[in-house]
Amino acid sequence: MTLPIPKIANVPDGAVERQTSRVIAHKRWSDDGFELIFERKGLCFDAGRLITLHGRSLLEDRSYTISSGEQDPHLHVLYRVVPNGVLTPQLATLTPEDEVQWSGPYGQFVVRDPQRPLWFIATGTGIAPCRAYLRTYPDIDLTVVHGVRREEELFFRPELESHRYIPCLTQQAEPFYHGRVTAYLENQDCPTDAHYYLCGAYEMIYDMQALLIRKGVPATHIFVEGYYYKLET
Ligand SMILES: Cc1cc2nc3c(=O)[nH]c(=O)nc-3n(C[C@H](O)[C@H](O)[C@H](O)COP(=O)(O)OP(=O)(O)OC[C@H]3O[C@@H](n4cnc5c(N)ncnc54)[C@H](O)[C@@H]3O)c2cc1C
Repeated sequence: MTLPIPKIANVPDGAVERQTSRVIAHKRWSDDGFELIFERKGLCFDAGRLITLHGRSLLEDRSYTISSGEQDPHLHVLYRVVPNGVLTPQLATLTPEDEVQWSGPYGQFVVRDPQRPLWFIATGTGIAPCRAYLRTYPDIDLTVVHGVRREEELFFRPELESHRYIPCLTQQAEPFYHGRVTAYLENQDCPTDAHYYLCGAYEMIYDMQALLIRKGVPATHIFVEGYYYKLET
């Protein structure tokens, strides 16, 4: 079977060397969830691609999905402050007019076929690429299943709600589905012609891949982007 060919911008990986951008805004979504908005500096990218945010040394550099759309004026990055993390506590101190250093773009978690039904299944900040897809392809046939701990972590909810949107909350019962995304999908029909994009914790991705394949979804219809191993809830 032939794998679908991803649409990648005419920009090779890492084409843009280290840039310094001015912070435009820093939005707080939850206790530890933030959206950093900064100058785009003319970057050309496909929705779903990544940039590196640079820390004080190479060891502090980290990858982030650009959560803004291809035509948006600024770059947006959604992140969660990891307790005792290296870079995210530094990011959290940034205020408008501060500078952020970045380079990129890279990665291949792009929309393969915008005409096809797309199921986006994410945990936590793994919803970031979905926001970039939606900003870029507003008419896409989208189903979003987003797993978070509490309602306040439903990042981008106002934009996602205009599509089929299923929040799955692990630490809160009402008004949404109470449980993990895998438990929710276990009892759903999963169309085998759709494309499935899985993003966030590796543990969810592995479980979800197995579940979807068990339900008859071809492996070639499943695309994944792992962010982290979930060492704590
Ligand atoms: C391809 C790719 C894309 C990524 N895109 C994003 C993104 O758009 N937004 C984002 O928030 N993160 C994203 N990440 C994770 C990001 O690169 C950092 O790992 C994260 O922000 C923590 O950085 P830190 O230096 O503060 O913590 P570190 O000191 O590097 O991390 C300590 C530990 O925290 C855990 N951890 C890391 N990220 C999270 C998280 N989000 N939630 C819970 N635990 C976590 C991991 O177990 C990690 O070992 C991405 C990672 C990859 C590989």
